[in-house]
Amino acid sequence: MPELPEVETIKRLLKPNLIGKIISEVEILSPKNFVGKKSDVIGAKITSVDRYGKVLVFRLEKLDKLDKLYNFLNIHFKLSGQILFSKNVDKAIFKNTIPFTKGNKMPANTTRVIVEFTDGSGIFFNDLRKFGWIKVSEQPLKPKGIDVLDKKFTVKFLTDLTDSTKRPIKPVLMDQDLITGIGNIYANDSLFLAKIHPQRLSNSLTENEVTLLYKTIKQTINEGIKDLGSSGADEAFILPDGSRGGHQRNFLVYQREKQPCLNCKTIIKRIKHNGRSSFFCQNCQK
Ligand SMILES: [Zn+2]
Repeated sequence: MPELPEVETIKRLLKPNLIGKIISEVEILSPKNFVGKKSDVIGAKITSVDRYGKVLVFRLEKLDKLDKLYNFLNIHFKLSGQILFSKNVDKAIFKNTIPFTKGNKMPANTTRVIVEFTDGSGIFFNDLRKFGWIKVSEQPLKPKGIDVLDKKFTVKFLTDLTDSTKRPIKPVLMDQDLITGIGNIYANDSLFLAKIHPQRLSNSLTENEVTLLYKTIKQTINEGIKDLGSSGADEAFILPDGSRGGHQRNFLVYQREKQPCLNCKTIIKRIKHNGRSSFFCQNCQK
């Protein structure tokens, strides 16, 4: 599932291609994946591309007779969403085979929505599992939690949060109503760097541990962005031009079950925890 670094990467790469584009058509191949009226966005100009947690948001400006109308196109990738951009939407061919599709041409068997622009370019929203969505709204659909890259995400915020709950630390880090943007990859790797076991009770963390965890969360998220996100073996994530991210080469414990710990060579363990896999070194993480 794309996490903060993956959605941030898509945002940064899409932005220069999309600002100023005017939507000429929206083809909805799977009604489940599109919520809203397409007439609200046809004719609208994209004036900004933003990210709130794991939600990608296009701000639209539509001129009507009396006034400007603003709408937002919100995109959530959920488990297997992808966005591809092509300068030629009618003959879209990419350099690489697109994961979960049969080749390098779009639309593919997994394409759910196509947004076309007046200059002939367009984007394809693919989603194998169909949990992702595009929603039209009057305000951006911002998640409740604090974004890891937001100024409000401070050591004090993380300290107050961990002090306030007995829940194990890993699901707290991944709770989008509390902190937005951290998923399974970056939760596992930041806990490893902070030497904290994923099942440690949040309110048992010491001041030093929380301070270190705060730093390692920022560090892993920023490294993920620098590497243009993670395209792990079984993951759908790709860049808008169809190429892969690079952070999977720098995983610390995530998806490294049965391999030696990078610190102490103890074999990395994997356990199921709240329905998700946790990877950790039982020697380094307490
Ligand atoms: Zn170790």
